[in-house]
Amino acid sequence: MQADLKKGRILVVDDVPVNIQLLTTYLKSVGYEVIPARDGEEALVMVTDARPDLILLDVMMPKLNGFDVCEKIKSEEATRYIPVIMVTALNDIEDKVRGMEVGADDFISKPFNKLELLTRVKSLLRIKLLHDQLTEKIAELEIAKERLRQLAITDGLTRLYNHRYFKEFLIRELDRAKRHQLNISVVMIDIDYFKRYNDAHGHQAGDMLLQEIARLFSENIRKIDMAARYGGEEFALVLLETNKRAAAVVAEKMKNLIEEYPFPNEETQPNGRITISMGLATFPDDASTFDGLVGVADKRLYIAKQRGRNQVVSEEEQPEEVND
Ligand code: GH3
Ligand code: MG
Ligand code: MG
Repeated sequence: MQADLKKGRILVVDDVPVNIQLLTTYLKSVGYEVIPARDGEEALVMVTDARPDLILLDVMMPKLNGFDVCEKIKSEEATRYIPVIMVTALNDIEDKVRGMEVGADDFISKPFNKLELLTRVKSLLRIKLLHDQLTEKIAELEIAKERLRQLAITDGLTRLYNHRYFKEFLIRELDRAKRHQLNISVVMIDIDYFKRYNDAHGHQAGDMLLQEIARLFSENIRKIDMAARYGGEEFALVLLETNKRAAAVVAEKMKNLIEEYPFPNEETQPNGRITISMGLATFPDDASTFDGLVGVADKRLYIAKQRGRNQVVSEEEQPEEVND
């Protein structure tokens, strides 16, 4: 694999310049990029600034020693996956135990054996490369997952939320409204004589009209509210913290907005323009469940149609009028 051939960038930390020189000369001769650091503090700066793929870390250093540096690197999310090889005095078991405790990945003794050093560097760099590739893939996956989540809750034609998310959103908000004693209003909307528009101008023109109406809804509600395509040529608005009186004002505003908006070819409609009918239901006045609220709003939408369309019905004051 091509990526395996990529040589790594190695941070060499030692307080003795000749040690740095030795390691640098050798590692460069076999193709690695080397960054030197002369003490623990400089090493910590370079770890963040230069993002090495591996660290060769001397144990014995004044001020911040190798153990402290290693512990710091291994305690931070951003740097903990950079492999650390501790450079210890020959066969010092105590140093090795201590090194393991602070998270070192391997050890090498001074004076170092070239082949041994190269073997350890290579194997840890391979793990680091695999880790980096995995991290990258996970990030890509997260982005894809979010895109998929958006797709799953969006209506393809209008870009409004779809029926599924409308339900999920309203159920969640009803829960919250019950806990905090808030109002929620639901407005069910249906385009008047939409079939005629389709018949007169074609399905594509009908689709464009749906898109334009959807845009008008989403542009004219507050950020906390939501507009959804309920299905076909029906839409739903969820108005949070909005009582019946305030919701009726919003619905009336939508009615006027659509009635006055110059849609293409609308003169062929029965009343010469595109209009909508709306049914309004409010929590907790009318119902307290998703099905209850949608049911009441739907019934009132039907009443609005019966009464001649292009209007909002927010309560059933005269039920005898609608029994036909
Ligand atoms: P009313 O005023 O009673 O609502 O009359 P209407 O013609 O709007 O009602 P009806 O339910 O009879 O017709 C709805 C039409 O909406 C029928 C269907 O072809 C059309 N429709 C539903 N979904 C879409 C869509 O995605 N695109 C297009 N272009 N038309 C659609
Ligand atoms: Mg309909
Ligand atoms: Mg209709």
